Amino acid sequence: MFDNLIGQEVAKKLLSGALAENRLAQSLLFYGPDGVGKELAAVELARALNCQGGEGGLFGEAPKPCGACDSCVQTAAYRHPDFIYLFPAPHPSSESDKRKTAEEIGEFLKDKAGRPFLQPRFDKPAAITIDDIRELQARTALRPYQGRRKVALIAGADAMTIEAANAFLKTLEEPSPTTHFILVTARPHRLLPTIVSRCQKVRFSLLAREQVERALAERHGAAPPEAALLAAVSGGSLGRALEMMDQDLLADRDAAWEMLGAAVRGDHGRMLAAIEAAAREKGRPERVLGFAAAAVSDILHRRLRGRAAVQDKGEETDSLARLLSPEDLGRIAGNIERARDALGHNVNPRLCLAYACAAGQEGEHDTDIG
Ligand SMILES: [Zn+2]
Repeated sequence: MFDNLIGQEVAKKLLSGALAENRLAQSLLFYGPDGVGKELAAVELARALNCQGGEGGLFGEAPKPCGACDSCVQTAAYRHPDFIYLFPAPHPSSESDKRKTAEEIGEFLKDKAGRPFLQPRFDKPAAITIDDIRELQARTALRPYQGRRKVALIAGADAMTIEAANAFLKTLEEPSPTTHFILVTARPHRLLPTIVSRCQKVRFSLLAREQVERALAERHGAAPPEAALLAAVSGGSLGRALEMMDQDLLADRDAAWEMLGAAVRGDHGRMLAAIEAAAREKGRPERVLGFAAAAVSDILHRRLRGRAAVQDKGEETDSLARLLSPEDLGRIAGNIERARDALGHNVNPRLCLAYACAAGQEGEHDTDIG
């Protein structure tokens, strides 16, 4: 089971053990960084619970989903009647905006069926509202329509409004015996503690660089050099690497080195111009910071082991390695990581990029962000 999930041995063992012994908790919380397979694991679990083939057949428990029956196929395509996929979305008031949002969601689900790591992107603020929870309650109150269980996957569960979270808590307190809730989040500290305490917690971790590289090359059609570069800048998130695969990577890499080089040399004009260029386009700050993190790691390799890894920036790597001590590099790496985290929390991208640069300049690394 979980053949399509890279790494995550602890989570896999816990979940397949619980399934095999028919003691899977009704409410589960999958938490850990973005893009490491939490949703994929939830879909796999939903398939296992409702598979019509496999061991156990229709009326028993099927520990390993067959992947081929109607139920497995429909679940993976997000259109099984007993599999509910809830995620943060905009809730516009005008009819025309509602129609537009519904269309966007439809398109997203179609794409998501073939690309399980895809995340919804909306221009307007997105949330899980009390209306969403009421609809969820109505759907989970009924008996399973076609399968043995109803499974509700709630992605981005931390985006519930307070009213939504309180309403959802009531559902968790009196769950229907045939329903499983799987909450997924990268920010479990933002959930109501009373919700967290009612769930069995399953932790997912960042992947090793080699795991990301292999997955990109073997399962997602990346050419080997591209897979190596993407894996290096992914920070252990396969989802992040896949998102970057569609982008103009070399331009982003150059922007990261330009920003870092200017910051280290105290060239404020160039640094601000680089930040401005990186911040203008949606999604770019994440990628530039990813490359900046990989650049710092390359410079550190150069310093400590006399050779640079991964990125083809020999001269600049040498030059920055002469200007920075390992302590400087550690501090910069820490700031870049905090800046990446802050970006994920919707902190202004310019501020995040500037924060990542701050440790490259003496005396400016003690400020806090987000
Ligand atoms: Zn099946």
